[in-house]
Amino acid sequence: MIQPRVRFAPSPTGALHIGGLRTALYNYLLARRHGGTFLLRIEDTDQKRYVEGAEAYIVQALEWCGIVPDESPQKGGNYGPYRQSERRDIYQRHVQMLLDNGSAYYAFDTEEELDARRDAEMAAGNHNFRYDASTRGQMRNSLTLPAAETEALLAAGTPYVVRFRIDAGETVTFTDVVREEVSFQSAELGDQVILKADGLPTYHLANVVDDHLMEITHVIRGEEWLSSTPLHVLLYRAFGWQPPVFAHLPLLLNPNGKGKLSKRKGADLGFPVFPLEWHDREKNEVFAGFRESGFLPGALVNFIAFLGWNPGTEQEIFSLEELAAVFSLDRINKSGARFDIEKGQWFNQQY
Ligand code: GLU
Repeated sequence: MIQPRVRFAPSPTGALHIGGLRTALYNYLLARRHGGTFLLRIEDTDQKRYVEGAEAYIVQALEWCGIVPDESPQKGGNYGPYRQSERRDIYQRHVQMLLDNGSAYYAFDTEEELDARRDAEMAAGNHNFRYDASTRGQMRNSLTLPAAETEALLAAGTPYVVRFRIDAGETVTFTDVVREEVSFQSAELGDQVILKADGLPTYHLANVVDDHLMEITHVIRGEEWLSSTPLHVLLYRAFGWQPPVFAHLPLLLNPNGKGKLSKRKGADLGFPVFPLEWHDREKNEVFAGFRESGFLPGALVNFIAFLGWNPGTEQEIFSLEELAAVFSLDRINKSGARFDIEKGQWFNQQY
């Protein structure tokens, strides 16, 4: 394998959950296994969901587990972690590229106008309003309005978003290491917003631009992002870039195998689902951490590694270094993994 360049790209919307830790760990292990590079990128462009203290928590929790990003000060590098909020100009330049090549357009519709259109479509029996070729014509955007009007709106400082133009009639196909071939119909996507009215990019645009500029070779992330990937593939194409390899990790399930593991469930069952204690200031609630509950980081890492991956041997106890020596993407399980701490007998082991 070529030397992989991978990243863990959390949004600082709260504490690092066990599922996020697993994503970080698999990325880290792939980089270590093949002498590659592992980056940490904080995806903080959604200011409404930003939670104070979350970034510091993520960095500390990873460090406690022995997962230290490359190119960071701890490793003699000179970046913070990367923060998307500090890269606004880069995204705006790239949005401009898509405007210039006709892949994107300005949309001036207000929330009220969008709601009114949604209601009108609903009344006409269309319950699934999408901003796309079938509805663009009724909206206020630079594809519909005369050029002079668009210019006048821009010159007057009218608020706008930029949308990525996606036409129906295409089957978007990509290969995922875990899911194999995945196909989506472009008609299901609609014209997605890539630049918001506040001048910040949406997750999709920033994610694709950064993965390209940071020369990421493998995008390893949770399954909840699988449905965003067709849009990302189309963005790569619109820029004329080669997409990375994708690997979407199966869900982490509650111990009974039903439903996605939630932090509430962890608290109810008396198991931590966070590496370190987390004080949720908004709800004024404290969630237990593995560290404070007396678990050793090596044991936690060992437990997490096995949530959705197996080494293909009988060995059950691995240090971080031993995991890095054997980890491979093709041994990631295809079905969801149960977060069953009680069965994790390695917690009794001394490291
Ligand atoms: N910011 C996304 C998250 O919080 C990252 C998804 C990705 O890795 O592309 O999970």
